Amino acid sequence: KRAEVPAAVHGINPELVDRRASDVVRTLKQAGYEAYIVGGAVRDLLLGLKPKDFDVATNATPEQVKSLFRRAFIIGKRFRIVHVVHGRGREHEVIEVSTFRAYMDNAAAEQVGGNEKTSKAQLAGMHHAVDASGRVLRDNVWGPQDEDATRRDFTVNAMYYDPETEVVVDFHKGIEDAKKRVLRMIGDPATRYREDPVRIIRAVRFAAKLSPLGFALEPKTAKPLVECEPLLREVPQSRLFDEMLKLLQTGHALASIAQLKSLGLATGIYPLLDVVVDRSSHPFVQAALADTDRRVGEGKPVAPSFLLACVLWQDVKAGWEQRLGRQQPFPALQDAIDDVFDKRIGDVSGRGKLAADMREIWVMQPRFEKRSGSTPFGMVAHLRFRAGFDFLRLRADVGEVEEALAEWWQEFSLADDARREDMIEQAR
Ligand code: ATP
Ligand code: MG
Repeated sequence: KRAEVPAAVHGINPELVDRRASDVVRTLKQAGYEAYIVGGAVRDLLLGLKPKDFDVATNATPEQVKSLFRRAFIIGKRFRIVHVVHGRGREHEVIEVSTFRAYMDNAAAEQVGGNEKTSKAQLAGMHHAVDASGRVLRDNVWGPQDEDATRRDFTVNAMYYDPETEVVVDFHKGIEDAKKRVLRMIGDPATRYREDPVRIIRAVRFAAKLSPLGFALEPKTAKPLVECEPLLREVPQSRLFDEMLKLLQTGHALASIAQLKSLGLATGIYPLLDVVVDRSSHPFVQAALADTDRRVGEGKPVAPSFLLACVLWQDVKAGWEQRLGRQQPFPALQDAIDDVFDKRIGDVSGRGKLAADMREIWVMQPRFEKRSGSTPFGMVAHLRFRAGFDFLRLRADVGEVEEALAEWWQEFSLADDARREDMIEQAR
């Protein structure tokens, strides 16, 4: 079953391989361990794309890996891995090193799950644990490489590349599937979705990301998606939120929404994602999604607060207008924002900063209409001015505010103080 495929066959261009990733592999191999570049990076290399990050898989344990590198940190609990850090500051690069894991089918995992209830010590140890629906809660049982391949999701995500020998190790015909442009789940798809329902969202994400290259989900892989979707209710909200952001902020937001619709998953994955899909044909939201995809494509940073502020802007505006009869504009806006947070964001913990940033973007909008006195000076000095202005810019693009207003602020933000005084004088 184990195929070793040479460079002449797979044709990976070694220049696309990150030097730091090959360094990590070399260090591990020199210490006597097996080590490979693995997963999405191999898939992307095979497709001629430059991977955005590199993962390494090895038969060394996290402790053994850590001891080989100066700056290496064991992270994660559900899934322990080592972050090997190269360089500092903005330029720093993290290579994720994971130890080969054993694959357990549901029955085996079920058994460990049963034991785990009787033994707290075991829970803390290296065992798979499952909940009532068969979801694997912990995934820290080390195993041989072929099992490590089998527990991965798609055949094209389950290959190993040795940058020294340039050999690809392929257990599940990943190379063939990559050639055929098919996304195939390893094993029985429904079982795999049950083990980890997040794979449902990953299926959507890879289908979206790879559709421009002609990829599609294999019919057997796509078929159980809808019936398995309710399993996502068992998944922690924070993990779903993160997966939602990966759908929306990795450069394939519009394609992901198209996939969700065509696969019959337009609702029910995560409440906030339902809203995004529902609003996705609204011109302002569509412009925001297209803008996000463009920015990611150009390698520019994107903030979740900005996109979510765009998606929920209609709700804020509607609530604000309703309250204006009874309240002063500023408190009305603040209260409308509170309502939207209560209704749409829920109590996903650790989202305080995100909510604060969204609020700032919204609160700046009416202030942009006020081009007198010292207000504009305060605005441009605002830490979040850029986000607020980009939001205004998008509103102007779809005709929600006048183009001249966005242009005025564009010019004002770039002008010197004397010119700014002039501009305020003329705006009156
Ligand atoms: P991307 O290019 O978007 O980073 P990726 O394939 O690298 O895609 P990661 O989330 O970085 O995806 O995961 C790395 C690898 O780990 C995957 O390629 C896959 O082999 C494995 N993997 C990750 N999540 C799962 C999962 N939920 N179930 C099974 N295997 C997974
Ligand atoms: Mg990756």
